[in-house]
Amino acid sequence: MLPIPALDPQATRALRQRMVMQQLVPREIRDPRVLLAMARVPRECFVPAHLADHAYDDSPLPIGAGQTISQPYMVAVMAELLSLTGTETVLEIGAGSGYSAAILAQLAQRVVTVERIPELLEQARRVWQALGLTNIEGMVGDGTLGAPERAPFAAISVTAGAPPEPPPSLIDQLLPGVGRMVIPAGSRGLQTLYLVHRDAEGQVSREGKLACIFVPLLGAEGWQEEFWGLIHPFFRTNT
Ligand code: SAH
Repeated sequence: MLPIPALDPQATRALRQRMVMQQLVPREIRDPRVLLAMARVPRECFVPAHLADHAYDDSPLPIGAGQTISQPYMVAVMAELLSLTGTETVLEIGAGSGYSAAILAQLAQRVVTVERIPELLEQARRVWQALGLTNIEGMVGDGTLGAPERAPFAAISVTAGAPPEPPPSLIDQLLPGVGRMVIPAGSRGLQTLYLVHRDAEGQVSREGKLACIFVPLLGAEGWQEEFWGLIHPFFRTNT
């Protein structure tokens, strides 16, 4: 793991330890590396200043642009399901605040994360830099198409809610044999968190793990933009 002096600041260490003991351990987060990562990364750096007092609440929080930073428990579950050992390159879709990428960066060799809202990525980059997290590469783009120029990936984490069928481009970018992906998929308002595997023959299987609610994954292989979604019934075409 990286020696990162700016992580685990003394002032908020007790809050992180309490979060781990009250929110994660009783809900069966077991991987010691995940618990350690959650105990080190200062979540207050990733939330808007006026919400800093709520940084260790057991809930998602707004981060601007209509988006949210996920609940700590959800970040931990997704990280644990990926069974990272420290050697992987992980693709994340939906950098948002940059918090979950910072957690993954403790657990894998490298994180490539794609975000469609440039302002969010700019802010996330500033925080990663301040914390000395040098193994995260942020890219602006449509993450439903993955990151073909960096593929294939041993692990993919999708942090926005996908339609019932996960984007085929993401499945294609999973390394056959070892590739695994965590992805919330379902309706726009309620999803199931799936663990998807791609075997050596390229066969894809998935297990539903828990119910969850994420902001929608918008893009070419995701949901259409809200605006189009709203007018769609009135302007339906067959194209
Ligand atoms: N992982 C984030 C949670 C972000 S919420 C965190 O720890 O804070 C989901 C994010 O997915 C939002 O920032 C949203 O803008 C982004 N998103 C939605 N659709 C996307 C797409 N097609 N490509 C990239 N990012 C997308």
